[in-house]
Amino acid sequence: MIFFKSKHCNILDVSFCCGFLILTSSAVFSIALNQINFDVFKDKRLLSGSITTTSVRSALACAALCTFDKKCCSSNYEKGSKLCTLETSCMQNMEPFLNSQVMIKVINWIPVLVAYSGNEQSVYTAWTNQTECNDLTTPLDISVTTRHLRNPLIDRWTDVGVKKVKVQLFTNDVPVVWMLFNGEDTNEMNWFSQENLMNSSFNDLTTSSPTNYFGIVGHWSQLRHFFINRAYINCGTDEGWFVVLGDCQKCAWEQQGLFPLFLYTKSNSPRNWVAVCQKIPKDLPSKWSFSITTSLRTGYCDLNDYKSKIIPSSDKNCSCGEPETVEHYLLHCSNYEEARERMRTSIYFITGNIHMDLDTLLGIDEEDINRDNRNEILCHLENYLTEEHYSNM
Ligand SMILES: [Zn+2]
Repeated sequence: MIFFKSKHCNILDVSFCCGFLILTSSAVFSIALNQINFDVFKDKRLLSGSITTTSVRSALACAALCTFDKKCCSSNYEKGSKLCTLETSCMQNMEPFLNSQVMIKVINWIPVLVAYSGNEQSVYTAWTNQTECNDLTTPLDISVTTRHLRNPLIDRWTDVGVKKVKVQLFTNDVPVVWMLFNGEDTNEMNWFSQENLMNSSFNDLTTSSPTNYFGIVGHWSQLRHFFINRAYINCGTDEGWFVVLGDCQKCAWEQQGLFPLFLYTKSNSPRNWVAVCQKIPKDLPSKWSFSITTSLRTGYCDLNDYKSKIIPSSDKNCSCGEPETVEHYLLHCSNYEEARERMRTSIYFITGNIHMDLDTLLGIDEEDINRDNRNEILCHLENYLTEEHYSNM
C-alpha cells in the first residue's frame, strides 16, 4: 500500500473559475504490500460451505485452496474426514467440533514507504535507494516528517509474494486518492503500471485510458515520478491524474511550494493541471497564523482601531476612511475585495456556506460548526492575511 498521507490542510479548490480541482498536500506518502494470513480457530467447524468441499491432505492444503480462490474468505478442515470446506462469508458462523479447524482469511497491508511532502527529500530516491537507513517501523511511527521512511522489503520485492499494492494520499487523515495495483509477477519498479491498475478513486482512469506517462520513473528529466499523465501540449494545457513532483518545477502548475509535492486532479472535465485562478493555500496553518487568529479573536491586534486605544494620538481609521476594526479588515474593507473574494470562494467549497462571517473565519462561537474544517479555513485566512500584508501594519 502506498499512502500519500497528508496531515494538514492543503486543499486547493479552483473549480469555481476553471471547472476542475487540484489538491496539493503536505502529505505522507506510504507504500504497503498485501499478504494473506489466516486466523485459526481450533476444534471448530463452519456451519456452511458455499463454494466447495474437497478432500485434501492437510489444513495447510485447505488454506492454500482458500488463498488461491478469490471468493473464499473462510475455510474449514476436518482431520478425520480430510474434508476442506470453502466459504465466501468471512463471518465466523461456526460450531464446536473436535479435530476440525476453521481458518479465516486475513489480508494484511504492510507499509513499505511513507513519504512526506515539503521536506525537500526526493521520494524517488527514497524508493530506489537501497542504502537508506530510515527503516519503516512497526507499528507505523509517523512522528518524524523530515525524511521519508522505507521498508527494506522493497529490496526483496520479488521474493515476498506481493499480491496487491495500494497507493493512497490522505488529507487531514482522510484518504482523498487511492489506487490499487496487481502486484503479482511484478518487481519494485514496474508494478505501478497501467496494465496492473485494478481500481482507483479516479472515475475515468482505466487500463485503456489514453496516457503518455504511467510509471514510477515517469518523466525523468522533469522529476515527475509516480506519474500518471494523459497528454502534454504546453504547461497551460497539460492533463493528467497524479504526480509526485521532485525539485524541478518548470510549469506554473508545479510551482506550489517545497518539494516533494503530491498533486492530483479532482475533476475529469478536464483533467487539466493548471492552477491559474487561485493561489494554492499553504500546506498548514503556521504558528504565526494561529497567534494572529488569537489576536484577531480577542481584538488585541495590529489594527488601527485597537492601536488607537493604546496610543491615543494614533489614527483609528483604515486608509479607506472607515475605523479599522477586525470586522472591517476581514469582511468589509474595499481595499481587500479581491483577496477576500478568493478567500470566500475557497471557504465556500469547504463549508458549503457562501455566507462568511467572523465566526466562520475565527471560530469565535463556542459551538464552532466549522471545527472539523478549522485548519483548512485557517490556511485560507492566512493567505488573505499574507496577501494583505497584515504583518506590515
Ligand atoms: Zn478599510
